[in-house]
Formats: sequence, structure tokens, C-alpha cells
Amino acid sequence: MTAVNILSLHKTYPNQSAPVLTDFSLSINNGEMIALLGPSRSGKSTLLKLITGIERPDSGDIQFDGSSILNIDPNKRGAVLMFQKSYLFPFLNVAENISFGLKVQGVSSETIGAEVKRMLDLIGLPGIEKRKPGQLSGGEGQRVALARALVTNPKLLLLDEPLSSLDTSVRMNLQEAIRDIQRELGVTTMFVTHDLGEAMAMSYRMALLLNGEIVALDRPENLFHHPRSLAAAKFMGVSTFLNGNQVWGPKEAEVESYKKLYAIRPEHILVQKEASENSVEGVVSDCIFRGEYVEYQVAVDGTTVRAQMPMPATMFPHGERVYVNFPRQYLFEVSHR
Ligand code: ADP
Ligand code: MG
Repeated sequence: MTAVNILSLHKTYPNQSAPVLTDFSLSINNGEMIALLGPSRSGKSTLLKLITGIERPDSGDIQFDGSSILNIDPNKRGAVLMFQKSYLFPFLNVAENISFGLKVQGVSSETIGAEVKRMLDLIGLPGIEKRKPGQLSGGEGQRVALARALVTNPKLLLLDEPLSSLDTSVRMNLQEAIRDIQRELGVTTMFVTHDLGEAMAMSYRMALLLNGEIVALDRPENLFHHPRSLAAAKFMGVSTFLNGNQVWGPKEAEVESYKKLYAIRPEHILVQKEASENSVEGVVSDCIFRGEYVEYQVAVDGTTVRAQMPMPATMFPHGERVYVNFPRQYLFEVSHR
């Protein structure tokens, strides 16, 4: 097990003018699974390439248990990477794919057989040693890729959007499997994704990467309910901001110009026929049934307020006049940056 310290990384690709990482710092505790959440092209894969040694940072340091790894050969760092695609060797069977890394290390064939079996039990696919990658489903292929990554007992497991190409139900199964396996092995893990729901499901702490640096780091439930900045709140699905008096701002007001800024989550906004203590009037532009909840879009002062109310909730027709209520107990202050 390994504690990881990433210290003020800067990275600009030679042929690019803008930097990808500007001041990236993050510590991962020994045995922890942390999620790195960021929009696409925010530099997530670049960070993983810097850790595995495929790329070098312009400045900054990466340390495992307090020692820099930057001058260690990529294949000796003990950081393994798993991708969205499994990249299994198509002509090798499952056992040969999993044991590839061990063979390179010169491990004996008895040990290899036992290790392959241990890995297949771990990923919940015992007995598939002889199958070829072409005979595996997408989910099975990703399980085998995970086994291949873990068989060398890595210091750090890096998962780069590993579930992005899978169907929802397969994806949910694999989320659970990865959680179980990570807990059982205690391997320090970073799960990288652009998907908020997945980042929350796959982490004890979650880091948000925007504009080349970590702008928020906390437990998923804290970040979800109380993001501290405007940018973090927007990424957490908040789209309604109120002014310093905790009321709807002047018409056409720019959120950025408010001296103090309050945010409210969409599921805490009430869309009703009656006004309450902190309301604004609007017109329903859309009302979508989502199963567990109803999603409302209400036109107010030339912008759209998005709200969600749990079922049973009223389905309002397009064009209905309603009140949008912002209960004060759910408002929280955010900083402009
Ligand atoms: P993410 O994984 O978050 O989608 P990436 O790290 O892949 O982001 O990419 C971040 C930015 O760096 C993008 O703008 C991408 O075009 C650029 N980039 C990635 N790899 C290279 C490369 N080898 N050379 C030049 N630019 C690159
Ligand atoms: Mg990527």
C-alpha cells in the first residue's frame, strides 16, 4: 500500500500554447479510493500519463511514500492504468492476458497458474482461463483488464473512465465489483471520470479538476450538498443562484455581479401554485416525468429555473403560471471563485 503526493504539477504539451495542468496538487491516502472528476479535456488522462511516466511534467513532483518517482522507469513505478477500452491481446487467452506482466517479471509457471486463478476468483469469473477476448462481453473484458492490472500487486491503481462504454446495468455491477475488490485488496486507487454520479459512487473523497487545478476536495456528500465556489456548484448540478439578500436578483442581473452569492440545489426548490416566504413568479416551460421525481423548467425574468420535486408531485402543463419557492434553510453561500 502506498500514500501518494502530487505536488504542484505544471504541464504544457510541446505543440500547445495553453497549459493543461497549471498547479495540480493532490494527496491520496494509503489504501484510499479517491475519485478525480473533471469535464472532458480538463487534463485527467494527462495527469495519469504523468504518474505512469508516459509523459513528464514541466515542474512539480510526484511522490510515493515520500519519495519522488519522476526518475524511476515507467515500468518500475508500480502504477498501473486501466482504460475505457480493455486493450486485451486478441490472440492470447484470458489466462495469458492476465499473466503477461508476471511472465515479463520471470515468475514461475506454478505461481502464475495460482495467481491467475486467484485473480479470476477475485473478479467473479472463475474458470474462464481458456477463453479469448473476442468471446467476452464488454463487462467481462473490463473485469479481465482489471485482473491484469492487479495481478502484479501494484502500489497504485489508476482507472481512466473504465466504465464509460458499458450499458447502465453492467456499469452498476462493475461499480460494485470495483468497490468490493478495492476494499478487499486495500490498494490505493484513483478513479477518473467526467460523470458526477459515478465519481460519487466510486470514492471516499472526491477531487474536482477545473482549469488545470483541483478546485474542490471533500467527501462526495459534502461536495454535493455544500460546494464552496460558483464553479464547483455548477459542476455539482446547481444552476440557481440568489443575491446577498437571499432572494431572486434584479431582472437580467448577472450572477457574477452579486456581492454575496447563495446557491440552492434543484431538489430543494419548490414549484407550486402558492407563493411562500421566498418566492418568485414564473411560467412553466417544461415539466418532465423522470420516474422518482419530476423535473421542472420555469421561465423567470428571462432565465430558466430548474427544479426537481420527488414523486408524488404535480405535473404542470406548459404555460402554467406558478411560484418558484426557495426555502431559506436550503440556501448556502458560495464564493465567486
Ligand atoms: P481528459 O482526459 O480530461 O479528457 P486530456 O488529458 O486527455 O483530458 O487532454 C487535456 C488537453 O490536452 C486536451 O486539450 C487535449 O487535446 C490535450 N492533449 C492531450 N494529449 C496531448 C498530446 N499528446 N499532445 C498535445 N495535446 C494533448
Ligand atoms: Mg481522458
